[in-house]
Amino acid sequence: MRTAQFPKGDWGKVDKVILKEVKNTLNLPTEASNNYVYGQRKLGCCGLPIATKDFDLISEDSDLCKEWATEGRFCFLFVIRLRTSRTTNLLRKKNQGKAIEVSSLAPASSHFLTDGAYTRFADWRFIHRARLNLVTLNGARPWVKDNDQRCRRCGYRQETLSHVLNHCSRYSHAWQLRHNSIVDRLVAALGRRGEILSCNQAVASSDLRPDIVFKKGSDIFLIDVTCPFENRKSAFAQARATKIAKYEPQILSFFWMIWVRYSLALLNIHVQNLNNI
Ligand SMILES: [Zn+2]
Repeated sequence: MRTAQFPKGDWGKVDKVILKEVKNTLNLPTEASNNYVYGQRKLGCCGLPIATKDFDLISEDSDLCKEWATEGRFCFLFVIRLRTSRTTNLLRKKNQGKAIEVSSLAPASSHFLTDGAYTRFADWRFIHRARLNLVTLNGARPWVKDNDQRCRRCGYRQETLSHVLNHCSRYSHAWQLRHNSIVDRLVAALGRRGEILSCNQAVASSDLRPDIVFKKGSDIFLIDVTCPFENRKSAFAQARATKIAKYEPQILSFFWMIWVRYSLALLNIHVQNLNNI
């Protein structure tokens, strides 16, 4: 590539063959956005190199390479910028970009891409399609005429991914298992960093039962797990705001309890001082 033994067009053919095979490996259909394969890995995409772009950067005959060499720029910065712009283009897509927008917020969401750790083959076959909203469901292609879009399980009018993962009543037991497994992971992680005061228990004379009450130093945290569908960042922000509004009275009652205890302690000290006099 450096000495341009093969023309750029040949590298384009290599890109095509590799792209097809990578999509097969990811269990993605051909209509899946190429930006998912070529986008920035830290932003939830696969970060596959593009041979034709590398040719432009590496080949001694390339105008871009000559221009950058004279200006003292670095190729890897160009590659990062290119991958980031591909990811941005993917996030702008109305259908394929909405779930991946949430996954792109934290690199931990894509930990399995490089080594497949903690990921079964069944998960692998599902996760990439789900991130691009390309799971073959009846309601996934509403533009197809005369297509029965009803849910195969409960008969709901539109079998979409959000319905299957978060709303279909036939899967309510699976929701519970998903929620509980997240709580268990949090309890295991938090237990090493502080004290778990309670799990799924009513606190402060309220009917609300936060999943975890955690104490670290002088701080107490009420943790309630929710699993909203990844419908853009706004869905997560809305779910978080709903939880905060739900537990706000309980937090205020905590403050009230602490204030009463503090006042009683001060009163006791005052009475003891009076007795000593
Ligand atoms: Zn259903």
